[in-house]
Amino acid sequence: MVLLEVADLTVDYGRVRALSGVSLTVRDGEVATVLGANGAGKSTLLRAMIGTAKPTTGSLRFAGTDITRLPTHGRLAQGIVLVPEGRRILISLTIEDNLRLGAHLRRDGVAVRREIEMIYERFPNLAERRSMLASCLSGGEQQMLAIGRALLAKPRLMMLDEPSLGLSPLFVERLFDLLAELNRDGLTILLVEQNTGKALAAADSATVLELGRVLMAGDPRQLAADPALQAAYLGAA
Ligand code: ATP
Repeated sequence: MVLLEVADLTVDYGRVRALSGVSLTVRDGEVATVLGANGAGKSTLLRAMIGTAKPTTGSLRFAGTDITRLPTHGRLAQGIVLVPEGRRILISLTIEDNLRLGAHLRRDGVAVRREIEMIYERFPNLAERRSMLASCLSGGEQQMLAIGRALLAKPRLMMLDEPSLGLSPLFVERLFDLLAELNRDGLTILLVEQNTGKALAAADSATVLELGRVLMAGDPRQLAADPALQAAYLGAA
C-alpha cells in the first residue's frame, strides 16, 4: 500500500525554485531514501511534507487523504513526524522533558509514561541521565534523544533529515541499526542522507534529487551500481 504520494510538487522561495515537479511514493512499511547534493532540495521536500513550505503546485496524499492544505499540527496528528537536521534538542531542558515534548499532542498519559520507559530500555544512556539537562549528551546521544522524542509522537511515517551528520562512525552504525530495528517493528521511514552508501544499503527505494528535480529513482541496489551516481555521490571515479 502507498502511504505517501508526492505528485508533481513545485516549491518556490520567492524567485528561487527549490523543487520542480517532484514526484515520489513511499510504501507502507518501507525505508525510502532521498539523496542529493547540498541545495538539491531535500530539506525543502521535508518542509513541504510537514507543511512549513507551501507548494506552488502539486499535491501530497498521506494514507489516502489529500493533506496538501492541512496545517502542520494536523499532519503531526496523522503521524507525519520529522526528526529535523541538527536534531533541535532543547539543551536547557532535561532529557525527560525533551522526550515529553514529542507527546505534547497526546492525551493518553498512561501510555506515554509506558512508552517513555520503553524508550529508556532501548537507550540506557538516556535512562541513566533522565533528570539531567540534555546539554550533557554527546551528538550521537542527542540524535537518539531526537528519535525517541519523535517516537513519542506515534509516527506512521518518520522522516529524518541527515541524521548521521556529524556523528562518529560508531554512532553512525548504531543509528542505522536502530533505524533497521524500528523498521522491522513496522515503522515506515523516509531518510534524507548525505551518507549515500549507507542510505542506499538501508533503503528499499531511493530518489536522487538534483537542483530541485528528480534525477533518478528506483531500486537502491541498481542506483548504487549506476556509474553516474557512483561518480557524483559514492566517491568513485
Ligand atoms: P542541504 O543539504 O544544504 O540542506 P538541501 O538539498 O536540503 O540542501 P534545500 O535546503 O531544500 O536543499 O534548498 C534547496 C534550494 O532552495 C537551494 O537553492 C537553497 O539555496 C534554496 N533555499 C532553501 N531555503 C531557502 C529560503 N528560506 N529562502 C530562499 N531560498 C532557500
